[in-house]
Order: sequence, then structure tokens, then C-alpha cells
Amino acid sequence: MYDVIIIGSGPAGLSAAVYCTRAQLDAVVVEKEYMGTGQIAVTDRVDNYLGLYGISGYDMGEKFREHAEELGAQFLDGEVNKIYKSGDIWNVSLADGKTLEGRTVIYAAGASHRQLGVPGGTLSGVSYCAVCDGGFYKDKVCAVVGGGDTALGDALYLSKLAKKVYLIHRRDEFRGNRSLQEKVRAAENIELVLEAVPTAVLGDKRVSGIEVEQRGEKRTIEADGVFVAVGMIPNTAPLEGVCELEGGYVRAGEDGKTSEEGLFAAGDVRTTPLRQVVTAVADGANCAVSAEEYLR
Ligand SMILES: Cc1cc2nc3c(=O)[nH]c(=O)nc-3n(C[C@H](O)[C@H](O)[C@H](O)COP(=O)(O)OP(=O)(O)OC[C@H]3O[C@@H](n4cnc5c(N)ncnc54)[C@H](O)[C@@H]3O)c2cc1C
Repeated sequence: MYDVIIIGSGPAGLSAAVYCTRAQLDAVVVEKEYMGTGQIAVTDRVDNYLGLYGISGYDMGEKFREHAEELGAQFLDGEVNKIYKSGDIWNVSLADGKTLEGRTVIYAAGASHRQLGVPGGTLSGVSYCAVCDGGFYKDKVCAVVGGGDTALGDALYLSKLAKKVYLIHRRDEFRGNRSLQEKVRAAENIELVLEAVPTAVLGDKRVSGIEVEQRGEKRTIEADGVFVAVGMIPNTAPLEGVCELEGGYVRAGEDGKTSEEGLFAAGDVRTTPLRQVVTAVADGANCAVSAEEYLR
């Protein structure tokens, strides 16, 4: 029986592991990817995490994991497919048939970006995070795909850096909030490409443009970067019917407390206005402290 079962070894889970280990709690981190360190591992460069300017996402994840290992955190390979409570005990079932028992669970399984699903969609220069990668496009041309608040916000953010931004949306009107829409329409360097569906990201090794089908016609837009903002999929399948979710995310405050006692949620998987490494790491720490208080 563990004091804490931490699910996911991204920044949130690893930070929780550091705090739990230092609080001398018997904690284990369960991760489905071999030596996984979460989404950040796939990005070339991180410029917005304090003190680690310019580090590659892979190296950052390794540093986080080494830190947790150095303090004695325990790790277990496994994919969690169900979580349920029996009395005061949390049961965590793994895909290989094992079940772990814990007094508390910190759920830090993150979220995945919905992909474009077109040829070229994984070329270098295709990004899912304008705040993270926008700095690379100073005075360049970007295309943003999507029609919600994230896409509008990304287009505005990029319009302050890039020479020109194309905002590509499949409908003739946006879903995002009115004030953002007005700002986007007022920006001189944002061109709206409406009723247009991406069919391919163009380029050899790096992005050189994007091909769309607009009102039945193919059109090629030259661009140095393509920002995809067509939604996120929170990794909450094991929690369905277990605790309150909101739009698929775990409803939890800054202290990580969910609707269920002893179950805490940290990082991208919880309802939060900002999904970044810095917020995930802070969440992990808050959840560990909340779990410790609950155990006491
Ligand atoms: C391309 C890209 C670039 C980014 N750039 C930046 C940046 O420059 N700066 C920045 O601050 N943020 C950046 N981010 C965002 C940042 O990566 C996330 O906010 C952060 O990783 C969230 O951490 P997390 O621990 O909550 O979740 P994640 O990093 O998603 O980690 C969740 C972990 O849980 C594991 N997991 C999921 N389901 C299960 C399961 N059922 N059982 C066991 N394990 C499971 C996953 O394998 C994963 O390792 C970027 C994201 C992407 C995709």
C-alpha cells in the first residue's frame, strides 16, 4: 500500500514526486512510456522556463527525472486504465492486469494536442504552442489553424512578432469570444482564410507553407511556421465516472483537490487557464502538499 500513487511522469508528476519524496511519503510514479517525461520531451527548445533558458525539451525532461531519481523517487512502468475507490483505499488498475493500492492518488496524465492529420503534419515548424515557439518567428510568416479562443489568441500573439499571420478556419465565422474576434479583425497583419480546410503542410524537412481547400479550390499559402490550435484531448479516460470533469478536464483548483477525497489532479489535465511547464510543476508541488495534509 502506497501513501501516494502519482500517475504520469511529465513535469507535474515529477514535481509531485520530488515533493512527496522530501516529505518522506511512500510514493510511486506510474508512467506508460518507457522513461517518459511528458509532452515537453518533443520540443526543440524551451525559452520560457526560469533559469533554464534555451534548453531542449528532451534535456529539460531528463533533468526533471534525474532530480526526482536523485531524491529516491520510485518509478513503475505501466499504463493506468482504471481508478476506483474501495472504502478509503484508491485502486489503480494497470493494462498488464496488476492493481496498485494507495491512500491517495495524484493524477498528472496530461493532455494531448489534437493533430491536423494531413501529410506533412509532423514537419519541423509545425507547432502546437504559440507562447512556446512564437519567438522563433520574429519578422517571418505564420499560419494558424483553428477557430476557437486558442486560435484567435495565438494569431494575435503571433501578429506582434511575425510579419504576417494567416488565420485558417473551416467555417465562415469564429467560435471564439467576440472581443478577441474584433482584435483579430482589426490587426493589420492578420489575413483571414475562411471556409478553408488544410489538406497538406508543405516543405521538405521544414515547413515552407500550407495547402488548403477553400470553397472547393486548392490554395497554397507560403509560411515559415504552422501553428495548430484545433483542440486538446485531456488524458482522463481512467477517471470517467470517478470524479467531476469539465470539458473532459479534471475539475480541480490550485490546491489540486478534486471532487473526491484523496484524489488530486496536477498539470495540463486539470481545469486551468495556462498549460505550461511552470504551471504543471507548481501544480505537482501543490498536490503533494495537499496529499500530505490529507494523510495527516
Ligand atoms: C510541442 C510542444 C511544445 C511545448 N513547448 C513548451 C514550452 O516551450 N514551454 C512550456 O512551458 N510548455 C511547453 N509546452 C507545454 C508543456 O509541455 C506542458 O504544459 C507540460 O508538459 C504539462 O505537463 P504535465 O506533467 O501536466 O503533462 P504531460 O507533459 O502531458 O505528461 C503526462 C505524462 O503522463 C503519461 N500518461 C498519460 N496517460 C497515462 C496513463 N493512462 N497511465 C500512465 N501514464 C500516463 C504520459 O505518457 C506523460 O508522460 C509544449 C507542449 C508541446 C506539445
